Amino acid sequence: MFISDSLGVNESGHLTFGNHDTVELAGKYKTPVYIMDEVLIRKNCRNFVTSMNENYGGNGRVIYASKAFSCKAMYKIINEENMGIDVVSGGEIYTALKAGFPMEKAYFHGSNKSYDELVFAVNSGVGRIMVDNLYELELLKQISEELDTVVNVIVRVKPGIEAETHSFIMTGQTDSKFGLDLDTGDAMKAIKTALDAEKISFKGIHCHIGSQIFAVESFMHAAKVMVGIMKDIKDETGYEVEELDIGGGFGIRYAEEHKPAPFNEYMKKVSVVIKEECEKAGLKTPFVIIEPGRSIVAEAGITLYTVGAIKTIPDVRTYVSVDGGMCDNPRYILYQSKYTAIIANKANEKADFLATIAGKCCESGDMIQEHTYIQKPESGDIMAVLSTGAYNYSMSSNYNRNPRPAVVMLNGDEERIVVKAETYEDLIRNDM
Ligand SMILES: *Cc1c(COP(=O)(O)O)cnc(C)c1O
Repeated sequence: MFISDSLGVNESGHLTFGNHDTVELAGKYKTPVYIMDEVLIRKNCRNFVTSMNENYGGNGRVIYASKAFSCKAMYKIINEENMGIDVVSGGEIYTALKAGFPMEKAYFHGSNKSYDELVFAVNSGVGRIMVDNLYELELLKQISEELDTVVNVIVRVKPGIEAETHSFIMTGQTDSKFGLDLDTGDAMKAIKTALDAEKISFKGIHCHIGSQIFAVESFMHAAKVMVGIMKDIKDETGYEVEELDIGGGFGIRYAEEHKPAPFNEYMKKVSVVIKEECEKAGLKTPFVIIEPGRSIVAEAGITLYTVGAIKTIPDVRTYVSVDGGMCDNPRYILYQSKYTAIIANKANEKADFLATIAGKCCESGDMIQEHTYIQKPESGDIMAVLSTGAYNYSMSSNYNRNPRPAVVMLNGDEERIVVKAETYEDLIRNDM
């Protein structure tokens, strides 16, 4: 049942997270509430950074894909752990700036960055702009001249790889809205344009093949394709790529059947491919960048709810309703994501009750999980949903005018609110 190191059961039979009693946390902070374990977040960061140093001799950087979970406290943790960040909007750049993040270690992604966002990024000293398309490159040429500033870019290419994951989170294939295509010649055209532009400094290439990927072979394949592109660039332009960004997408445990390879195995195997392929191609090993998001925060977060209405439809199913749903976790309605739920106040009881966990929003598809085994539920129980640290708070909405829950960060014996719960007053703040 325990898919993350932060989970346990105490003598009261209550689920613990980061050694805190989750039933007590629910009472203290009210539900729904997101709880995160800073100890595990930092441990995950250190695993990546250590592995990066071991496998690339320090010639690389781990950047946290902050769309997974973004708030000021998180950018501070990432900075303290000596990592960079991947940001995808003016809003994420703004949040990182307000957290005092050193923006030269920020990498700006996105498939349709606006003129204003690009100007904001350049003026904020963002280290690299990840060029997604030719239109954006034209905007950047114009902006670099208007602001009389050299803009460092990395060009995002589609390596033409279909990773084994849900089609909505698969991004490396030709039919994708992300990045520049190799076959059409767009990718090489962008690279040549970047090399020729006076105030644009072309630094390297990027790919990201998708998310929640378990097969190390997919990453190895992508690495090989990318070094091949580096060789083509050198052959065609004489320029040797300095930086190779191989993206993120490492799978995590949402349920027991998920078995991700240890970070170090992935890092080792991929680094061997990069080094060997570079040697074969007569290229020097580039500065390597990786972009984990989910694997830094997902297992380090849980959501606590209170069970409300329970409806049994004979011979069909039992709906167990919680006081949140797609407004705080839209991943099931988006892509039927797998989640594990536990009745926190009955954590040492057998999970033999087949339930569909329903949210409170006015959508039939608003579920947390269908047909999943939990302990026998009663109204008033506290339900914990595991591995919600990534793409939950960051994807939350005010649908049905539900205020967003607080985010509470645990750190050993300490606990602190890093994002306050929204109030009804917050909901009408911008209403005229
Ligand atoms: C989302 C994203 C990531 C992170 O993906 P995870 O699955 O959270 O590790 C990294 N790079 C890019 C470009 C992304 O879009």
